Amino acid sequence: MFIYTRDNMPSQKTRIFTDIPAGKKQDTGRCPLCNTANAEFWFVQWSNGYSLKGWCPACTNVDITPDAIEQAKQQRKAHLVSAFLRRLPVSEFAASGYVRADVLDSIFSQVTQPDATEQYDLTLLEICRQCSEPGLQSAFNYEEDWPLIIARSAPSVSLMIIELVNSGYLDKEISGPFPPRPTWKAFQRVKELRSSGSNSMNGFVAMSFSTDRLPIWTEVIEPAIKDAGYKPIRVDQYEHSNRIDDEIIAQIRRCRFLVADFTAQKPGVYFEAGLALGLGRTVIWMCDHADKGNLHFDIRQFNTILYARGWRIASSR
Ligand SMILES: [Zn+2]
Repeated sequence: MFIYTRDNMPSQKTRIFTDIPAGKKQDTGRCPLCNTANAEFWFVQWSNGYSLKGWCPACTNVDITPDAIEQAKQQRKAHLVSAFLRRLPVSEFAASGYVRADVLDSIFSQVTQPDATEQYDLTLLEICRQCSEPGLQSAFNYEEDWPLIIARSAPSVSLMIIELVNSGYLDKEISGPFPPRPTWKAFQRVKELRSSGSNSMNGFVAMSFSTDRLPIWTEVIEPAIKDAGYKPIRVDQYEHSNRIDDEIIAQIRRCRFLVADFTAQKPGVYFEAGLALGLGRTVIWMCDHADKGNLHFDIRQFNTILYARGWRIASSR
């Protein structure tokens, strides 16, 4: 199952839908979801309706029903769907099928909206990530890469770039602001950002720490976080002190994402997941399949990894 995080690598721009002879081609040349130009879409008829399938330079591969587009636009969240699709691996795309109205809530629960200051940092991080070495220009193209910043549109990212130039993070000596060339100061800032907050390398784990739950930590969660290149942070003292202390709150502030295992239904896990979500961090929701029925109603719309005994991932919903 694909779980969206701001760290998933962007789509490699591999086009899946290059020509769909069975469908009628849309003649606008624009993405029906984000309105980006140079898009190519076809109407594909299904037994109970149709979907718009094609290629957008910003969203990349898209297969979406008209009612999903309408609902996302009504909620002013179409850009979150673009952000999601942009980081969806091609293999997952084939498996997950088209975006329907009933999967929107799951997408919206995964793609959290960054505020303006976070977008500023994300823009700098992405520009530097797409720059192979200091002194060279970045491959970042705001007209196509704005979904990587979870921005509403390309112009809002161009404003971030102008601000980054004004603050000395991007070189002024280029004709027009694009493509941007990060300065030495930019790389120093990226290093700072990587050591704290939403861009840090820490993954916080919220779970019950009773001894029978230990194997899921030692055999699954801890190695998985390490394998992904992050540092797992587990604060288990609170089980003894039975309170959420300043240290836990500070650790959650410093984490990049939080893994919440709701098995055994500890109130602390709900609190920590809610705090992380409120801080705009990615939350990875987990629960033992046997305890699924006890999950609190309020979190049931989130995509939860359900695992079976033997710690094998059983299914997701
Ligand atoms: Zn698009």
